[in-house]
Order: sequence, then C-alpha cells, then structure tokens
Amino acid sequence: MKEDEFARNSKLVAIAQSLSEGDSTEKLLELIISEALSFANADAGSIYIRSDRETLHFECLVNRSLLLVRGGTSGVPVDIPDIPLSGEVDGQELHFEAAAACRNGETRLVQEGMSDRQQVYSGAKFYADLIGYEIVSALSIPLSVSDSRVIGVLQVLNAVDGEGQFGPFAEDMIPWIESLASLAAVAIYNRQRLDSHVAKHEQVAHQVQRRTLELETVIDDLQTRNARLQEENMIDGLTSVNNRLAFEDAFKIEWRRAERQGYKLSLLMFDIDHFKEVNDTFGHLAGDQCLRIVSHLIKSAFNRSADFVARYGGEEFVVLLPYLELDSAILCAERLRAIIEAYVIEYTGSEIRLTASVGVSCVQPSSDTDATQLLKLADKALYSAKDAGRNCVRSIAAQ
Ligand code: GH3
Ligand code: MG
Ligand code: MG
Repeated sequence: MKEDEFARNSKLVAIAQSLSEGDSTEKLLELIISEALSFANADAGSIYIRSDRETLHFECLVNRSLLLVRGGTSGVPVDIPDIPLSGEVDGQELHFEAAAACRNGETRLVQEGMSDRQQVYSGAKFYADLIGYEIVSALSIPLSVSDSRVIGVLQVLNAVDGEGQFGPFAEDMIPWIESLASLAAVAIYNRQRLDSHVAKHEQVAHQVQRRTLELETVIDDLQTRNARLQEENMIDGLTSVNNRLAFEDAFKIEWRRAERQGYKLSLLMFDIDHFKEVNDTFGHLAGDQCLRIVSHLIKSAFNRSADFVARYGGEEFVVLLPYLELDSAILCAERLRAIIEAYVIEYTGSEIRLTASVGVSCVQPSSDTDATQLLKLADKALYSAKDAGRNCVRSIAAQ
C-alpha cells in the first residue's frame, strides 16, 4: 500500500513538472486528461472551463486510444452549447454533474447507470453518439485554484477493470485524482493568465504601432505646415518682400560668408519722409498702397541675386549689398532716392508724391568686427539724412 502511495506521489511530482512545460493551452489540457485517465484507470476524460458568462464551456475529450474531440477547430471539432451554472439544473445528466461540481467545489461520483440518462450538453454525449459508447460511471472533479475559485471541471468516464470491462471507480483513488486536479487547475490558470497577457501585449503592441503611424502622419503634416508657416513668416504680408526676421537670418549668413571670403558688405537703410502725413492726408489704405509701390520700386532697382531687400518695419526698408564698396553703395542709394522722388503714385484720383531719406554704411566683416555695427552705422547715417532736411543720402564708413 505504502509503495503504491509512493509511486502515485512520485507520479504527481513528475506531472507537476511536465504541466509547467506545455507550450499551448490545448496541449496542456490533453496532457492533463491523459494523466487523469492513467490515474483513474478510466476510458475517457473531458475538461470544461468556466467562462466569464457563468457557464461551463466544453474544451475537449480524450479517450484511451487518444481519440480527440474538441470544442474548437482541431481534432474532431464539435459545437456543444455551454452549460449554465446559474439557475436550477434538474436531473443527473453528465452536464449537471459537471455544473454541480463547479458550483459546489466538490467532487461528484456516479458509479453506475449513466447509460440510461440523458447526456445533453456534454462532450461525452457527442463522443457516445460518435462511437456507440456506453457511459457506466463518471467522476467530476472541480478544478480549484483556491477554496473559493473554481476555474473548471475535469470529468473522467468509465472506470476500466482488469478484463477491460467498464465498471465503478476505485474510491481510494479519488484523493489522488483530486491532487492531480489541483495541480492541473494551477497550470491552466497560469496558462490563461499568460495567454491573456500575451494577447494584451499584442494588442498594446498593435495599438502602439497604430499610434506611431498616426503620430508620424501628424508630424509630417506639422512639418509641412511649419515649413509653410516659416516661409510665410519670412515674407511681409503687405508688401510681399522679405520681412525683418528674414533679413536677420540672411544677414547672419551673409556676414559669415563675407568674413570667410573677405568681401565687403554695404547696407542701405531708408525711411519714407513724412509718411504720417500721407496717411493723415490720403488715408491708411492709400498709405498701404504707397508702401507696396515703394517696395516694388526697391525690388526692381536691386535685382542682383546677391542683393537682399527687406521691409525693416513701418515705412523703413533695408537693402543688403554684398561685394559693394561704400562709393558704389552711395550711388545705388542716390539712384533709388531719385526713382522714388520721381515716381507719382495715383490713388483714387489723387496724386501722391513721396521722398525718402537714406543712410548708407559699409564694413569689412572680420572676427573682431561686431556684426551689428553695419546696422548701427546705417541707422546713424539715416538720422543725419533726416537732420539734413530729408530726401537725401548720407553715409558713414566703418573705422
Ligand atoms: P519721418 O520723415 O521723420 O520719417 O516722418 P514719418 O511721418 O515718416 O515718421 P513717423 O515715424 O512719425 O511715422 C511713420 C508712419 O508710418 C506712422 C505710421 O502710421 C506709418 N506706417 C507704418 N507702417 C504702416 C503701414 O503698414 N501702413 C500704413 N498705411 N502706414 C504705416
Ligand atoms: Mg520711420
Ligand atoms: Mg518716415
């Protein structure tokens, strides 16, 4: 007797080890049933798993010759309705035995006479129909992971005696098969958690991938929008010439290039004279039109690719002239001043005449020259042109 116990115990240990190795839930369930059959000396066994909807779902049935019936797609697939766990289940059918074992957490034993009874809902019925099988005895063992948590039922059918005849189960074996069921329950529970974890992980990975794609699209759109905005940001809305921001960018680049290549930079800074009066006399819209025309005159006067024209603010414009010595820059400024003076702007029947004062400067960029010097000098020269009575050009060369 003791030897028998020792053998069963060793077998349980071996089973516990092999149960932790299964690579899929299906294989695990088949393994559990095969072990249960050899423990109980039974002919067939099924596993039912408790669902979230408070039903028992038939998973699979395996018999000794390893015929596999499954409530899924492989083996011999069958579609067996779930067994409800709630409500009154009247009768002693196999499916009731399974439901009762699950609900009460207790092993149930039927030792004879199952053949007369209905076996609706159970995998065993399908199996019996399939091979003309007679069910004599049935053992339903809850799969419990704790006292209060039953995750399914292991059902074994038809104990086999020495002559191969179906008969009652040996009752001293029941505690052992209950131990096996406990091990099985934990293995199934862990497997379910692992599967749901993997499923969640895959779902999360899928979501992350989708979000990444969405994000990339958004980033693309933003970049395009940004590039456009930046471009728009660089252009003055009223006059369509470069704005001050664009000038500052271009100036930095030009300064470094002139420093490296050793050429001079000249700057014209000019300001429309008495422009406030233009607005006051002809209106703000007329003033706007004047600014458009002046910017157009400047653009047309400086059409070398290196020349950079910008609206510096209000009625002030700058022109950056790379490679030009101060003398040449003064000539350019004078020519532009004359063009503006000569131009008659027609606006809704009125003739508007403008003049501009221009400050000119020129520096040789170098590592010890302050880049803002060019601007400061041109600004100072512009002030002297205003002081000198306007409509004239003044210049200051760098020291
Ligand atoms: P000064 O000869 O000393 O330069 O006199 P000014 O009147 O030109 O100079 P002031 O700085 O007193 O006035 C500049 C005017 O330019 C006032 C402002 O309304 C006008 N102005 C600036 N930007 C715009 C604009 O975008 N549209 C119009 N219509 N007027 C502008
Ligand atoms: Mg001004
Ligand atoms: Mg002005």
